[in-house]
Amino acid sequence: MDFMKKLIGIIVLLAIAAGIAWYAAGRQPGPLIAITSPQAVIGHSGDLSVQIDTPSGKLSSLDVVLEQGTTRVPVFSLEGRGPAGGTAEQGTASQLVRQGPNRLLLSRPIGKREIPQLVQGNAQIIVTASRPVLFGYRRVQSTASRAVTVDLTPPIISVVSTGHYINQGGSELVVYRVSPANVASGVQVGPYEYPGYPASGAHIVTHDPGLRVAFFALLWNQDPNTPISLYARDDAGNEAHATFDYRVFPKAFRHSRINISDSFLQKVVPPILQNNPGFKVADPSNLLASFLRINGDLRREDAAEIAALARDTAPEILWQGPFRQLVDSAVEAGFADQRTYVHDGEVIDHQVHLGYDLASTAGAPVYAANRGRVVHAGWLDIYGNCVIIDHGMGLQSLYGHMASVEVKVGQMVDKGTEIGREGETGLAGGYHVHFTMLLDGNAITPIDWWSPKWVQDRILRKLEEAGAPAPPAAGRTASR
Ligand SMILES: [Zn+2]
Repeated sequence: MDFMKKLIGIIVLLAIAAGIAWYAAGRQPGPLIAITSPQAVIGHSGDLSVQIDTPSGKLSSLDVVLEQGTTRVPVFSLEGRGPAGGTAEQGTASQLVRQGPNRLLLSRPIGKREIPQLVQGNAQIIVTASRPVLFGYRRVQSTASRAVTVDLTPPIISVVSTGHYINQGGSELVVYRVSPANVASGVQVGPYEYPGYPASGAHIVTHDPGLRVAFFALLWNQDPNTPISLYARDDAGNEAHATFDYRVFPKAFRHSRINISDSFLQKVVPPILQNNPGFKVADPSNLLASFLRINGDLRREDAAEIAALARDTAPEILWQGPFRQLVDSAVEAGFADQRTYVHDGEVIDHQVHLGYDLASTAGAPVYAANRGRVVHAGWLDIYGNCVIIDHGMGLQSLYGHMASVEVKVGQMVDKGTEIGREGETGLAGGYHVHFTMLLDGNAITPIDWWSPKWVQDRILRKLEEAGAPAPPAAGRTASR
């Protein structure tokens, strides 16, 4: 009997110990959940990002549900998935990855594009996670939620300016209104987006916060039938497009032949290589092969460097009136000339000349074509000593092959300020200034910008007309 009593006592003690262990395990904290995105709003697009901290990254379950009224949309579930660590759900872009010894990161898109049931209004994102405790006999669970607004209202965009005429290889201006005022907007020309800027700076006569000014271009090598339209896009991925009336004038570009002599190679190749030790050629003494690398690869590198300078632009119009052409200059080569390079009677290369070559006399002063801020002043490979001036809203001007540079980066210059002296540095066969206008880093023909009539009709007229009283703003119901 004593034995039986002892046995029952041990069993009772074990049961009590198991009960305490069971109870204690259940009191352990569940996984730590942090919803890092979205913060407040989702729309046509949006990203869900959830950080989960759990020992050794072990989870028993993970479920994300989006609740709107009585609708519950499962957004993610761990069930039926392999062990956590880089697995991606089939058919969706869900990703659950290890981010450290005890951390997991769940990310996936969560906008209406992925969840068609979403409607305008309030919603709740609920994340539930549990982890194993007591050797897997129990689970501890935790929950986190985030209240968000589903905003599916696209921005409103409307054209203000009239009469848009685009020369292929040239630029144009459109004035438009956008609401709400904090959305990204601009002009789309095929694959290129030209951002619009709040109307401010020289020639601006209005202070309407929704008014936007966008310069855009049809590049010399873009099809004249390339679609051109306005876009507006908010942080929630809601987009609006608007068309405007325009006419494109296709241009035929000249063809020219450039004879490359050995004396030219001897003159230009060594200084270009010496000034850029980072640019390696197979054999620097092989001048022709080095020239072809410079004329091709280095020309492309320079174009990329010029494009990067486009980010250094003022958000307002800095220039005033037409751009000034180099005084008494003869035009030696035009914009987008299709050049064939010939050496010893053999065709060795083809390149496009994106600028005007303006020659006056050796050592003549070079003047800033208009008011702006210097963003490059110094050596730029094929352009030799080169100055680039920013005129605001993505518009810049470039001056190449100079003998000397007399301005510094960051300096404001006025129309007619002397910026250096004419020379033949870089890839230049004789004394001249290589001049071009740039829009968002792409070369555009400067001929329009030299014309007082074009500047008046295409640009200033539209800015003046936009100063007229605005029509009543269209309503917008969403709270953003
Ligand atoms: Zn040139």
